[in-house]
Amino acid sequence: MQSILLNSGEFRTLPNDSSLTAMLAKNLQIAQVGHEMVDAGEGLKTKQTVYAIDDEIIREKQDLLFTRPFSTMSASEKQRATVCPSCRQKRIIKDRWSDCLVCRRRGL
Ligand SMILES: [Zn+2]
Repeated sequence: MQSILLNSGEFRTLPNDSSLTAMLAKNLQIAQVGHEMVDAGEGLKTKQTVYAIDDEIIREKQDLLFTRPFSTMSASEKQRATVCPSCRQKRIIKDRWSDCLVCRRRGL
């Protein structure tokens, strides 16, 4: 996972496990799907949370843009973002839709 992120070029520094976990837990595009035991070396095992893309909200690749948290948007995406009247989050809302994709899929 970390090497994938680093190679994507979107990180200036490699996030460590705990900052990565904090980042994932805050992102509504990601769902916690369980735990797994990971070998931490020297015979030690540590429990890690397993994350996956939340398929209740994200069904195709373009959905990523419309569910993206404001803080992770690029400058041009931020200009397109408006406040969703339902959840009050700043998001890019699809043409002619009144609510953001998250509200429509989750029925908030
Ligand atoms: Zn919304």
